[in-house]
Amino acid sequence: MESDLKNFLKKYHIEYIIAAFISILLIQINYIFFKGKIINFLRDFLFWYNLILILLAFFVFLIASISYPKIYKFKILLTGYILISYYIIFLFITNKFPVKLQIFGINFNFYEKALEAPGHFALAFLITAFNLNLIFVISAKPTINYNDGKKYSLYISIINIIFYFYVLFFISGKFIGSKPEIFATKFVLTFNKYYPILNFLILIIVFLISIYNIEEEHNYGSIIMSMSMMCFFCALNADAYWPVKVTLPVMAIIIIIGIFAHWVNCLHHKAHYDPLLKIYNRQFMNNIIEGIAEIKIGKIFSVLMCDIDHFKKINDTYGHEAGDIVLYNAAQTIRNNALPEGIVCRYGGEEIIVFLRNKVDDEAKSKAEKIRKAIKKLKIKTKGKVISITVSIGVAGTEKGIQEIAKVIKRADENVYKAKKRGRDKVVME
Ligand code: GH3
Ligand code: MG
Ligand code: MG
Repeated sequence: MESDLKNFLKKYHIEYIIAAFISILLIQINYIFFKGKIINFLRDFLFWYNLILILLAFFVFLIASISYPKIYKFKILLTGYILISYYIIFLFITNKFPVKLQIFGINFNFYEKALEAPGHFALAFLITAFNLNLIFVISAKPTINYNDGKKYSLYISIINIIFYFYVLFFISGKFIGSKPEIFATKFVLTFNKYYPILNFLILIIVFLISIYNIEEEHNYGSIIMSMSMMCFFCALNADAYWPVKVTLPVMAIIIIIGIFAHWVNCLHHKAHYDPLLKIYNRQFMNNIIEGIAEIKIGKIFSVLMCDIDHFKKINDTYGHEAGDIVLYNAAQTIRNNALPEGIVCRYGGEEIIVFLRNKVDDEAKSKAEKIRKAIKKLKIKTKGKVISITVSIGVAGTEKGIQEIAKVIKRADENVYKAKKRGRDKVVME
């Protein structure tokens, strides 16, 4: 039991939570025991401080962008983009800028607009919006096509910036007509009252998703969780913007270290990956079977043998290149649906094997059904064509007293054969 917890904490990467916690503690100590003196001295170096903030944000953005094509972590890229948009907003609302913009009689001085907003609305709203984004980040699909990932991240960060300034302007600004003004006032007052609770709720949601969605190798959830913790801390201190200002670079540093650690870890894992399908290769599967891989299957497990139906036809009709793309998409769909308890390896050409830990019988079968349905729904677009496929899955588990992995695989293989004979697009477990 104790080692279970230890394993979990290791897999979860608790160190990021600890780092966030210590940073928060240090900032609090500075305020409680030193009356903020340590931070106050930074006020004399505001220009340099802002410069460091910009450089850090830029660095996060850069390393998220550079690492993305190499480690395929959409979540990292998204965090980078969101973080930089929030740094931009933060700098605008907390600093007077020498240039005052005036368009159509509207005064675009963000600093003054932020001050105009009642209470601590501007800062509290910023923190809450950022925290809310973290829910999206943590529930984002782990693998998204490279170009799409870049596109979505850019859209999301632009939408964030526009949305934020829209709210700031229309809520703090003077309204023409009375109805929106009443709404705005009510919104701000209600928000100002509840934002600490709101941030706490977001923290809980992020926490639960991060526990539920724990990733098998190099889990990223704890990094997002640590950021959500700091957001909550900022929300409790939104009345004084210096704690927030100090927390921002800490967030950046944690995420920079996190991305680097991921990167190194992924490169290490990449040696075990199939270059085309981006799942574990046959060699690594053998290592798992022999018990010499870092990933262990355990004593109770099932094997899901997935074989794509009439794959030769795909190659013949659309060409080998399109076949490769279809295969990659199928593998990633299987992987996404097999996680978190499934270990997915390329068994042969278009055969993918899933080791399902701690699941046998109906649980294993329903997982196989989930994969079969997801593959059937998949629409792969390539060269202006939309390709659909189906898959036959043979399932076998350790339940019948057969513990030897090789024998379980053999039974799963025989079940694939039966599924093919019975008309394909089926799950067989006998
Ligand atoms: P079924 O399984 O439904 O019986 O039919 P099938 O056409 O899928 O049959 P089979 O398993 O015998 O054929 C597998 C084909 O998959 C043969 C090979 O050309 C193709 N294939 C294997 N590896 C790759 C690959 O990496 N890329 C592409 N494009 N095709 C591959
Ligand atoms: Mg085959
Ligand atoms: Mg096949």
